[in-house]
Amino acid sequence: MLHTLKTYFGYDSFRPLQEEIIRHVLSGQDALVLMPTGGGKSVCYQLPALLREGTAVVVSPLISLMKDQVEALCANGIAAGALHSNNDETENAALRRACMEGRLKLLYISPEKLLAEVNYLLRDMQISLFAIDEAHCISQWGHDFRPEYTQMGILHDFFPTVPIVALTATADKITREDIVKQLGLRQPRIFISSFDRPNLSLTVKRGYQQREKSKAILEFIGRHAGESGIIYCMSRSKTESVALMLQKQGIRATIYHAGLSATQRDRAQDDFINDRVQVVCATIAFGMGIDKSNVRWVIHYNLPKSIESFYQEIGRAGRDGLPSDTLLFYSLSDLILLTKFAADSGQQSINLEKLQRIQQYAEADICRRRILLNYFGEQRTHDCGNCDVCKNPPERFDGTIIVQKALSAIARTEQQIATKVLVDILRGNLTQEVTEKGYQRLKTFGAGREVPARDWQDYLLQMLQLGYFEVAYNEHNRLKITPAGSDVLFGRARAQLVVIRREEAQPTARGRRQKTPVPQHELPLGLPNAENSELFEALRQLRKRLADEEALPAYIVLSDKVLHLLSTIRPTDVEAFGNISGIGEFKKKKYGKEFVALIRRFTTAD
Ligand code: ADP
Ligand code: ZN
Repeated sequence: MLHTLKTYFGYDSFRPLQEEIIRHVLSGQDALVLMPTGGGKSVCYQLPALLREGTAVVVSPLISLMKDQVEALCANGIAAGALHSNNDETENAALRRACMEGRLKLLYISPEKLLAEVNYLLRDMQISLFAIDEAHCISQWGHDFRPEYTQMGILHDFFPTVPIVALTATADKITREDIVKQLGLRQPRIFISSFDRPNLSLTVKRGYQQREKSKAILEFIGRHAGESGIIYCMSRSKTESVALMLQKQGIRATIYHAGLSATQRDRAQDDFINDRVQVVCATIAFGMGIDKSNVRWVIHYNLPKSIESFYQEIGRAGRDGLPSDTLLFYSLSDLILLTKFAADSGQQSINLEKLQRIQQYAEADICRRRILLNYFGEQRTHDCGNCDVCKNPPERFDGTIIVQKALSAIARTEQQIATKVLVDILRGNLTQEVTEKGYQRLKTFGAGREVPARDWQDYLLQMLQLGYFEVAYNEHNRLKITPAGSDVLFGRARAQLVVIRREEAQPTARGRRQKTPVPQHELPLGLPNAENSELFEALRQLRKRLADEEALPAYIVLSDKVLHLLSTIRPTDVEAFGNISGIGEFKKKKYGKEFVALIRRFTTAD
């Protein structure tokens, strides 16, 4: 097994659970595999496909996913193809022949085609195993429900001896049970790997308004020059305005949302995968078809509606295991809007509960990763050291007077105002609404002038979190003081607030590519962890040229991680090149000479 892993995929060891899963599938038994995005699910069925007689049939819900997988397999010298409705007749005929003659190790197929062919093509093939990718699509409870998936229970009726392995990154219990039941899995072993993605850094910025968000995003992208990333927005119009803002700054950005035509969406996705754009500003519609391994960052412009969606979306960063950054903007207006959506939805209590859990994450003053993992049922005893709370523990101060000012303003308007007017009153802004209602005559008008508006937004979020007021969602979001709030307002209790930090972190060495982001323990013993950044750039260009020649995405030719390893280890012969983790026999033969020649030029110039 290890030998095959090295030969075809170039890896020296298995990730946690991979080996057990592969053994299980090789023994001909059913399995359900739950692993986070980027956890390494593909190898769990691809390696058994290589080792068992016949062709593995892989069901996948999206053509783009199939395309990506097939390209990656072919790039490693593994015979694979995809059967779906976008192929033309000649392609299909050739594929069918290849299948019947047993020339493919893996056949990717859409669920519709699978159902159509179950009594035809599939009968004429020797099938080694069935893999059901994105298996959560079977469940109505999940977010990607596909009706065709529910009919796949017939597989075991038609092929009683062929093992089925179902794989998904969505872990909740109902979905899990649904998958087992509907696929008719036979005494399946269920493999649940850790959902931790330690290479993803976690940061939340609280209370930012639009202009500050733009500034923070530009700084963030500045630290990720040339590196691919996704900005998730709540609305279609927001994706457009954020993309425009980036384009004005010379950043190559595009948009993706369900309001675009299929052609426009495909083009956006293709541009992103092939590095023709750096940034996609998208709604949640974007991502399922994205297997791009070198997405280096994900920003949430708005609060997502649950931890599941959030985790799945940030999971699209750093699939190659290299350090990647995530940033979530948390604002009161999003919270109010989402609460309203949840309250008006069909499943009110579930959706409000889900929203509360993501809110807890955003408001956390303990390690954020512990909160995330706890949500997925994993308890941690250590802080992660890679979230903003761990790196910069919040400091508190006595904010009683600030809280009193805000609550007093609410009280003096007879609790008839929402946050926007509250901030206007505190700041002493003579807006139309203020003058219409005569709020400029209140004693608290302008009482909070010394605190910038953006800080008020932050403090109000904190006050909501501390339970000093509530938002009456059914009453135009007016603010209502709670008993705990009254205690502070009338001096019976004091309020502790968190100090607001606005300064951006200094650009990191990593951002400037001074150091390899490959962890020391993955380098050969005794090798200094010093990457040659000029060499990295040169390798990147060579990769791009080869990718363009073959019309492949660059990360399929060689992953970012491989490039970092190459520019650190600097192998100067083809054998040493082949020993790099992630380079199998096929790529060694295909690319070794050219890359080694380039590395040699650099090392002799040193
Ligand atoms: P998933 O399908 O679970 O999202 P993938 O199968 O795409 O994840 O794997 C994520 C990344 O991890 C890929 O770049 C893959 O090549 C890499 N990978 C998988 N298994 C290993 C391994 N044993 N060692 C090193 N890298 C691996
Ligand atoms: Zn942490």
